[in-house]
Amino acid sequence: MSASLEHAPLPVTEIRDDAGLGELCVLMKLGEIVLKGSNRKLFERRLHNNIRSSVRDLGDVRLSQRGAGVIILRKRDASDLEIAEIADRMSHVMGVVWVHLVRRVPKDLDAITDVAVRSMADREGTFAVRARRRDKRFEMTSSELAGRLGARIIDAHGYRVNLKHPDNTLYVEVDKDEVFVFTDGIPGQGGLPSGMSGRGLVLMSGGIDSPVAAHRMIRRGLKVDFLHFSGMPFTGPESIYKAYSLVRRLDRYQVGSRLFVVPFGKAQQQLKSAGDERLQIVAQRRLMLKTAEALADDLKAECLITGDALGQVSSQTMTNITALDDAVDLPILRPLIGMDKTEIMDQARGIGTLAISELPDEDCCTMLTPRQVETAAQVGDLRRIERRLDAEELAEYLVTTAQMHKPSFLGEEAPERVDKTRAVATSS
Ligand code: ATP
Ligand code: MG
Repeated sequence: MSASLEHAPLPVTEIRDDAGLGELCVLMKLGEIVLKGSNRKLFERRLHNNIRSSVRDLGDVRLSQRGAGVIILRKRDASDLEIAEIADRMSHVMGVVWVHLVRRVPKDLDAITDVAVRSMADREGTFAVRARRRDKRFEMTSSELAGRLGARIIDAHGYRVNLKHPDNTLYVEVDKDEVFVFTDGIPGQGGLPSGMSGRGLVLMSGGIDSPVAAHRMIRRGLKVDFLHFSGMPFTGPESIYKAYSLVRRLDRYQVGSRLFVVPFGKAQQQLKSAGDERLQIVAQRRLMLKTAEALADDLKAECLITGDALGQVSSQTMTNITALDDAVDLPILRPLIGMDKTEIMDQARGIGTLAISELPDEDCCTMLTPRQVETAAQVGDLRRIERRLDAEELAEYLVTTAQMHKPSFLGEEAPERVDKTRAVATSS
């Protein structure tokens, strides 16, 4: 899935002598949002807010919506590198399909031609010009404009035209007050603006799968919080550092992420003394889900999200997954359920989480893990264990031990630690 892959930054030094060229700015093409009919305004507002949040540390970045499917970002007196940084950030914002670095040129044919010709210097192979008018009052039709620019590019550089499969494409878009000229672009994330589909709570281990599951649901418009269970006090804090780094990486895709960390070691010990060894893993997962459900209630999250994939490990058989669903009333979304591990790893690489997930840690689940895992856990047996230690009450208690962090991709500042009850009270 190329849409979520990381890309090298756009080349900003394409035109070496850029004196007199138009101002460099960022042009974005939107996808599904264009199809939303009467909801479009709502989607646009959400997307504009998300865009502003992700550049809020970069000063006065101006946003303007052009028609249904195009957004322009400008920053006065910005260096090319600053504009390239804005473009890179936009390639992580959900709902954006393409990101282009563009030259903003006055509506003057000579000026447009000059920028077009210079933008196409030092290319190899064939080319095409694609012109588009959002302002139909422009003096030429789109095809007349493309024809004229094409002829001048041939004069200047001698390239051959290939309209069907060009090696290089020059785009020209005519707006009301200006014209945008550009060549390459990078794919954005696609999907829907985060927050458009409501809120979710991700059960976030330090592993490979859960960050990918989170990314997929953010991409479908959820705004998510994260819940990590550490093995503390019986393990070190390494898994928390990993969860923190993973959330910080994912924060690029939704901005304003919160990570709740619950020390789970003692609860695991209690579970162990309350029941059958072979049922431990599923019993632990159920307690995690119950705790997540209690926290989700405080956070107004409408679903839980896990990285389960059918059959990937013995705790993820169909019977065990059914036994997990039985533990809570909230829907559990499992976006990776039908994926192979190799596909999940490719996506993890693409979204920039794989290297973090592969760092060593001591997962709470490997602690106190039995040699054999029940592949067909019976709900009745699990409920019996839970009655013995009053699992509902334990879940409620575990939520009160949660510590909240805000791993922001924007800052290098030390992790903020906030008491959970305060955090919930002040949450949006
Ligand atoms: P992952 O790579 O996401 O850790 P996994 O292949 O290791 O997944 P499991 O360990 O069985 O699979 O976990 C299944 C799911 O349960 C995870 O994707 C995650 O959503 C949740 N989970 C597991 N361990 C934890 C934890 N320590 N804290 C929060 N959630 C967890
Ligand atoms: Mg795991």
